[in-house]
Amino acid sequence: MKVDSTVVVQTVRLDISTRCENDVVDITEEVRNAVSSSSINSGLVCVFVSGSTATITAIEFEAGLIKDFVTTLSRIAPADITYEHDKRWQDGNGRSHVKASLIGPDLVVPLSNGKLELGTWQRIVLVEFDIRPRRRSIVIQIVGE
Ligand code: ZN
Repeated sequence: MKVDSTVVVQTVRLDISTRCENDVVDITEEVRNAVSSSSINSGLVCVFVSGSTATITAIEFEAGLIKDFVTTLSRIAPADITYEHDKRWQDGNGRSHVKASLIGPDLVVPLSNGKLELGTWQRIVLVEFDIRPRRRSIVIQIVGE
């Protein structure tokens, strides 16, 4: 381990359009491109979505599992119950906020020798929980040397 290295922080922003509620978008290649375009070889890559009705997570990008994932969350925060958020704001997306907060807005992936330490089938995804299509701003911050 080097002790005299200089830590660098580089930020890349991505704009991604989502189509509908429960749209799951694979952004792994975009994150890899952001890492390749940086001068950082080893460190941490933080992927963060700005907004409280979407999330970033990792998943095996397989149609059955994608369906299982969004269905499981819809059982936890179903569409047909009353949400205090909807009563207060009338925007109809109380369930979207609950699901997004449960999963969280960010994912951190270790970067070693220029490679993201993802498993063979592990992909980085943006998940839209809002009830309408959205334009999402994703911040990728690469911290390392
Ligand atoms: Zn809302």
